[in-house]
Amino acid sequence: MQRSILKDLLILLGMFGLIWLAASLFSYPENPQLLSIEKEERLGEVYVDLILLNPIFRELENERVDSAVRMIGKRLEEGLGHSEYNYRFVVFENEMINAFTVPGGNILISSGLIGFCDSPEELASVIAHEMGHVEERHVVSRLIKELGIDILTSGNQYVMGEVTGLLTSTSFDRKQEEEADQFAAELLEHSSIEPRTLASFFRKLEEELDNELMKHFEIVSTHPNFRSRIRKALSYVPGDDFEALPIDLDWEGIRAGL
Ligand SMILES: [Zn+2]
Repeated sequence: MQRSILKDLLILLGMFGLIWLAASLFSYPENPQLLSIEKEERLGEVYVDLILLNPIFRELENERVDSAVRMIGKRLEEGLGHSEYNYRFVVFENEMINAFTVPGGNILISSGLIGFCDSPEELASVIAHEMGHVEERHVVSRLIKELGIDILTSGNQYVMGEVTGLLTSTSFDRKQEEEADQFAAELLEHSSIEPRTLASFFRKLEEELDNELMKHFEIVSTHPNFRSRIRKALSYVPGDDFEALPIDLDWEGIRAGL
């Protein structure tokens, strides 16, 4: 009798196992693999152009700022080593403190964020976090989850309006934020930038949480959770051979010219 109950239980467990397996195989609608990197890059180009047409995100014409951001981006790309993405960093003219990623390795940064950062290393830590969202394909996952792959790639003008809205107000879940923070710490270390800059930057954000200017900043938006993020960033210990090399820029001069 007992043996038969055990058998039934095992069969039941087996069935649950099968259902779980099937569910995990077929119900991951946000699987970013549905969109190849090549297609993601083409999609990204379209959306960057579309976003920059909006006066809120008008591209900043300031060669000094552009070359500073390019220099920071290059340092991080070298630290990253191999990537499937060709990164593009665009600064837009807006006093809001904001940065977000658009598919295909496009990172958009507001002039307000540059003014808010006290050092190029602080800006590097934000860009490294955004590069984490790119490399982990968080943006694509979110778009596919919200819209489905067919609608996302349909090119329909109404869909394009919706996607633009999602991209400029993206918020990630807690797990994705943690992944991007961890990615940023490692990338900063590999780029010879003090990884614990993240912690001091988060502390600064925490003090400014009531600041209206940062209400669209994705790092702050849904899961700020700064205490644990600061603790994690502080507990990251770079290797013994780590040496921070300053990013050689006249940061005050650059900020003064914004
Ligand atoms: Zn983030």
